[in-house]
Amino acid sequence: MSDLRPSKIVCVGRNYAKHAAEMGDNVPTEPLIFLKPPSALLADGEPIVLPPGVGRVDFEGEIGIVIGRRARAITRDEAWEHVEALVPVNDVTARDLQRADDQWTRAKGFDTFCPVGTPVPLADVDLGTLSVVTRVDGEVRQRGDAADMAFDVPAILAFVSSIMTLEPGDLVATGTPDGIGPLSAGEVVEVEVSGVGRVRNPVRQG
Ligand code: MG
Repeated sequence: MSDLRPSKIVCVGRNYAKHAAEMGDNVPTEPLIFLKPPSALLADGEPIVLPPGVGRVDFEGEIGIVIGRRARAITRDEAWEHVEALVPVNDVTARDLQRADDQWTRAKGFDTFCPVGTPVPLADVDLGTLSVVTRVDGEVRQRGDAADMAFDVPAILAFVSSIMTLEPGDLVATGTPDGIGPLSAGEVVEVEVSGVGRVRNPVRQG
């Protein structure tokens, strides 16, 4: 488990046009959100466990937002005041199950499916050049700029907080860029957010 203790983990789906396209889909007209259970959290260095019999399991490198102040129906302009830190997140996904199920709870919710790094205070991050890179065994597989998000962080936080109150410590994963792919036992996957750091995890078969 990680040191983060969010009451909930809110994730955004298809938030980069090129990733939506590689999934055979478009960017939605409103943010598409889903939840991961806090029981899926995994600390840096701990193994991602591939559940037996679920088929393909993918990495999704993402920029994570840690909420610092309770946010209820906030505006875009108020959004950053409610952010405490940024953190690298891997939204690990059982892709075959995601395709099979209308709801993604199972595909996104296995134990170890939410590796997170060490949060870095917002004031220490250069938001102008924010980007995420995913490497598997040291090879770059994803590279995305926050500037290419369909819905930027203020838009996401305004939208989510219009539905559910965001509590201090809650984690918001802002979507993955294109380049997603499968993980195999024995590999090491690393998600790095510029100016924030990385979360690196070995993969093993369960
Ligand atoms: Mg994702």
